[in-house]
Amino acid sequence: MSRQNFFSLEFFPPRDVEAAERLQKTTQELLVINPDFISVTFGAGGSTQEGTLETVRMLKAQGIKAVPHLSCIGNKADRILGILEQFKQMGVDRIVALRGDLPSGMGLVDNGLRYASDLVSLIRQHHGDHFHIEVAAYPEMHPQADSPSADLDHFITKVKAGADSAITQYFYNADAYFDFVNRLQAKGINIPVIAGIMPITNYSQLSRFSQMCGAEIPRWIRLRLAEFGDDRASIRSFGIEVVSQLCQQLIDNGAPGIHFYTLNQSAATLAIWNNLNNA
Ligand code: FAD
Repeated sequence: MSRQNFFSLEFFPPRDVEAAERLQKTTQELLVINPDFISVTFGAGGSTQEGTLETVRMLKAQGIKAVPHLSCIGNKADRILGILEQFKQMGVDRIVALRGDLPSGMGLVDNGLRYASDLVSLIRQHHGDHFHIEVAAYPEMHPQADSPSADLDHFITKVKAGADSAITQYFYNADAYFDFVNRLQAKGINIPVIAGIMPITNYSQLSRFSQMCGAEIPRWIRLRLAEFGDDRASIRSFGIEVVSQLCQQLIDNGAPGIHFYTLNQSAATLAIWNNLNNA
């Protein structure tokens, strides 16, 4: 595969010292990919704020381009501005701007920032062009949207507010991705939309996630995975095969790059990457 394609990785902040040590090891293992950046998730309401900053520091100390996520729901505007200032001081110049989902039990904060587009506007207002801003895209529609076209229009609002590029929610159906990009282009929007890819390693976990975030696992994939039962080796090997084919299809047909949701693990991402490299 040509290196004209963009590859990025995503981590979440480790929960304890052991997990932080494991993440260091994962990072080293994934360096062979030479990722364009590694992004670090941010818990809505600031629940992982310190962990996000710490992980960004850890990556930057190793010379890796680190891209923090920032979500606006449940956070006061002045706190968000404070976090942005911290990012800037740490040398961060690219971020993923999100609305976020509030953890259950956490109250809404009336901060004038209801949607990611409000956060994008706030960042542009206070920091001009300092940050390259990524936003989230949903080829299979965000689960709370009224309709695909309403969701597309809301996505376009984020672009008009100043987003530079986007990363999609994961999907296993390349047609959904290309349909989304085509509909954007028909509306004159041509920003790069990086395909977010979730390796398949654990069927029950993937089913749970997918239900929450509205990602469809195609029937034939679900049936094959279900049939493997507890045979994790077969699930992993089938998952690597299916996801490698998906990535190849995306790249061959013009997707500008791939963002791997690594779940802080290296093996599946590396296996998929190697399949692409050798294709
Ligand atoms: P928005 O773009 O604000 O959209 C949310 C919903 O509101 C959509 O249904 C949209 O159609 C609708 N909407 C938008 N504008 C309007 C409007 N003006 N009027 C009416 N409806 C509107 N979550 C985290 O908590 N932390 C993370 O680090 C994180 N990282 C992510 C990274 C990626 C690449 C992706 C795809 C998702 C990530 N998420 C993360 C999950 C994300 O926060 C949720 O999907 C959340 O529900 C929506 O966030 P958003 O930024 O897409 O919201």
